[in-house]
Amino acid sequence: MRTKSKWSPGPGVKILGVALTGDDRWIVSAAGSAIGICPDCGRRSRRRHGWSRRSLRDLPVQGQSATVKLLVSRWRCAHGECARRTFTDRLPTIAAPYARRTRRVGEIVGLLGHSAGGRPGERLMERLGMPVSDDTILRQLTRDAAAAQRSSEIRVVDIDDWSWRRATSYGTIIVDLERRSVIDILDDRSVESAAKWLRDHPSIEVVSRDRCGLYAQATREGAPKAKQVADRFHLVQNLRSAIEEQMSLSGRVTGRAILSEDAIVDAATHRRRARLSHRQSRQSETCRPANAVSLPPGFGRPPSWRQTP
Ligand SMILES: [Zn+2]
Repeated sequence: MRTKSKWSPGPGVKILGVALTGDDRWIVSAAGSAIGICPDCGRRSRRRHGWSRRSLRDLPVQGQSATVKLLVSRWRCAHGECARRTFTDRLPTIAAPYARRTRRVGEIVGLLGHSAGGRPGERLMERLGMPVSDDTILRQLTRDAAAAQRSSEIRVVDIDDWSWRRATSYGTIIVDLERRSVIDILDDRSVESAAKWLRDHPSIEVVSRDRCGLYAQATREGAPKAKQVADRFHLVQNLRSAIEEQMSLSGRVTGRAILSEDAIVDAATHRRRARLSHRQSRQSETCRPANAVSLPPGFGRPPSWRQTP
């Protein structure tokens, strides 16, 4: 067994010893501060009530996983007017309460989860010497999203499909467009869950979505006062599919003009005649009889693909 004399898991922690076990895992023995500070009255205390032990997965060393065995003190508050009798060292810079890994490892789990997803993230973390399960990665994503949500008021969101498994199961991803961050992931892709999420966030003013009717209905139910807009990706996608459809109707793209010169001349003549006919019909409309039936606004217009339903 080899030992190291120095280590640095974070401030406020005293290192008692470091050892490499037989199965190539580093074990760091450490203890919290020698003085406790009451979270209620802020007074210092040296009256230790007892110990507890926390096991925290930390950053790897030389490719091997490392675990911090941290002794945490429980203190008595000596201030007579304080309602709190005992309290525990918090060590917020090291790890969150009840966490099983240090805060810096949790940040890496969140970053890899965002970029790679559950299963790929699990394989990468194993290779980097910080093994975690895909469920843990997804829980970390949820916690990060909840923390981001608590810290600020959400105003503009994008809502879209999110693939748990490609072409098999889909959930819903919700992104804060002002902060460019994922704020929540829903388990399914349904009107009910999306509408419930929107109802729980009444501060939302703008919802950017695809042209699928599902999220339009969810927004109408969950955030009826929010403005719905089509996101840029789906607008460009719709434009591309419209062009492809038109080109397929006109034959293959060969680089030649689709129409012959005679046909182009005929088409220009036809357009001129159509404009003249339209102008004449508008002029005659101004003097039509008073009992003529009016068409409702927009009647007869071709549906615009650019318009969000
Ligand atoms: Zn106190």
